[in-house]
Amino acid sequence: KSADQNQVIAPGGVIGILGGGQLGRMTAMAAARLGYRVHTFCPDRNAPASHVSWHNTVAAYDNKSALKAFAESVDVVTFEFENIPSATTDYLAALKPTRPKPNVLYLTQERLREKRFLASINVPTTKFLDVGRQEALESAVKALGRPAILKSAEFGYDGKGQVRIDGDMDLFEAWVKMGGEVGILEAYVDFVREISVIVARGPDGSTAIYQPVENQHKNHILDVTMVPARVSQAVAGRAEAIARHIATELELVGLLAVEMFVTHNDEVLVNELAPRPHNSGHWTIDGSVTSQFEQFVRAVCGLPLGSTERHSDAVMKNLIGDDVNGWRELLNDPAVKLHLYGKEEARPGRKMGHYTRLSPKAGIRTGDDRR
Ligand code: ADP
Ligand code: MG
Repeated sequence: KSADQNQVIAPGGVIGILGGGQLGRMTAMAAARLGYRVHTFCPDRNAPASHVSWHNTVAAYDNKSALKAFAESVDVVTFEFENIPSATTDYLAALKPTRPKPNVLYLTQERLREKRFLASINVPTTKFLDVGRQEALESAVKALGRPAILKSAEFGYDGKGQVRIDGDMDLFEAWVKMGGEVGILEAYVDFVREISVIVARGPDGSTAIYQPVENQHKNHILDVTMVPARVSQAVAGRAEAIARHIATELELVGLLAVEMFVTHNDEVLVNELAPRPHNSGHWTIDGSVTSQFEQFVRAVCGLPLGSTERHSDAVMKNLIGDDVNGWRELLNDPAVKLHLYGKEEARPGRKMGHYTRLSPKAGIRTGDDRR
């Protein structure tokens, strides 16, 4: 078994990816450049990754016969999406090397489990309480105070399943709005900055880390990522040490993104983990020697990890919903690298693409202030 766990998947091999979104799409493109073929497994037809993949299986995540055929056709299995049932990755891991291992997915796909794991390895997080049912919310809010944030423990992304409980918010209403079965209440962090760190770890335990980036959200969705982040060397060093520590404790093989808050006293608190490529790492395609997607492929296949050196300052801006209609103007800007995901419908809140502005001259400029 251990030999299998260290198996190198050489170029020419087939990488199986669970999930078919833009993260899978950009991974497949990086994989192709290194001579791999990608087989995606995703319940949706016409998923962004399917346009650039060698094979696509369109089937439910619990379709055993489809999973079996998928496993037989690939050399290694990974995922680009967290809400894959544990039973699916457990089943696949018995058939083919599955990286990261199923336990990593299990620990990070539920917020309470994730925060308890972080506490168990002495990583500081926001204060939180388990709100297993609506009746428990009142005492939890009393204990943590207002404002606080109620989050659904499972299936949250882009701020979905989250409610901020301010001074006059009715708790029953908050519970209904959150919409989940189990909640986690978090103390509201009045942070100075949000940053994230992406670390890669190979089957041999080698690691490579990207420097911290700074993230700004709009309507709870990532809007802009800036690199370098405006933090001190000490904060950056601490953030990187935390990310490495978590990856090692998880025995991660693949990528781990660690979202963090930096407080007024320069404390670094972990907000959440994502054991896969991350939106805040998209700048690496254009601004780093090795993109996060290539790094992901290298880690999962057991290849030497690439240089994470940054060769430009960069600002990455997401194109959400109708923003994508500005593509012509963006293409006319020589400092802009445009990336579109091939999604047909520009629904509000949907990530349609992103662009990276390299070496922005007047300090930090975001997409909003360009004319
Ligand atoms: P997801 O990214 O899965 O939607 P997050 O937990 O990362 O969920 O929350 C989304 C954003 O909401 C965060 O990036 C941050 O801006 C804000 N946020 C989340 N939790 C807190 C908190 N405890 N205090 C302050 N802001 C928060
Ligand atoms: Mg987040």
